[in-house]
Amino acid sequence: MKKTLLLASVAVASFTSAASAADLKVCVSWSNFREERWKTDEAAIKGALDAAGAEYISADAQTSASKQLADIEGMITQGCSSLIILAQDSASIGPALDAAEDAGIPVVGYDRMIDDPRAFYLTFDNVEVGRMQAREVLKAMPKGRYVMIKGSPVDPNADFLRGGQQEVLQAALDAGDITIVGEAYTEDWQPANAQKNMEQILTQTDNGVDAVVASNDGTAGGVVAALTAQGMAGIPVSGQDGDMAALNRVALGTQTVSVWKDSRALGKAAGEIAVALASGTAMDAIEGSAKFTSPGGKELNSVLLKPVPITKDNLNVVLDAGWITKETLCAGV
Ligand code: BGC
Repeated sequence: MKKTLLLASVAVASFTSAASAADLKVCVSWSNFREERWKTDEAAIKGALDAAGAEYISADAQTSASKQLADIEGMITQGCSSLIILAQDSASIGPALDAAEDAGIPVVGYDRMIDDPRAFYLTFDNVEVGRMQAREVLKAMPKGRYVMIKGSPVDPNADFLRGGQQEVLQAALDAGDITIVGEAYTEDWQPANAQKNMEQILTQTDNGVDAVVASNDGTAGGVVAALTAQGMAGIPVSGQDGDMAALNRVALGTQTVSVWKDSRALGKAAGEIAVALASGTAMDAIEGSAKFTSPGGKELNSVLLKPVPITKDNLNVVLDAGWITKETLCAGV
């Protein structure tokens, strides 16, 4: 007997009586838990799996691409029905996909693109995140000297973001209204590395910086620390993730925007899609799925959720969504 379940708003799953969701084990490979958001993502995935009666198994690669491969091999031997992978290094994740394919397990590439049609691509629209970051900084500083603080060089999101930022800044660059006086990737997305890069750029330019497009809230924190040390806190700075400290900086006026990606929604969608795929739903039958052409020219089945820019003008959005309390948001304001 075959029945079809509608799993919340994102995924449609077909279950046979032989493989009910209660028999399913969904294995999740995390790159690390450094940024605040990942625990929220994890809770949402767990919640979706609980609701479907599926088991959650996980491993933390602690920023090591080789540990991530070993983690995945290990989880597969424990009998995963499907895999969710937050890739530490997308370029070296291939063997994990081979192992999953050998074991007949579907894969969800979570948040960061895995450039392989064997993985379903679930993320936010990262190019749009980059556009939103640049748009808010440009609004606040239409003329001046810009610094671009990018993400990890082995995370495809870093270049998606940078691409969106460039689209928005191009006209102002062409007009000579703004110039880019410094640009750096941030190894492992680490705030301390972003701070070091920002310090170097400030030294090289004799503090000749008017605005910083930073690619996430962690790197924005490093940038603001470097600016504060030079008495420059308050110039436009972008970020993303809706980290508590970053939203507080937005309220205080030391960060211009945090593009909010509600990771509760992404995690829930991942849990539901992982269950649907494990239950035999084809990738292109996942509700809302569309083709995404990767920069390498591969066609991926994907769902891209919509980000929301949070500035001083719409802080109520994160309050109303129950993302942050007023006390935390407005501490020190
Ligand atoms: C995610 C960001 C996150 C960053 C560092 C990116 O791939 O999209 O939300 O801040 O990784 O973990």
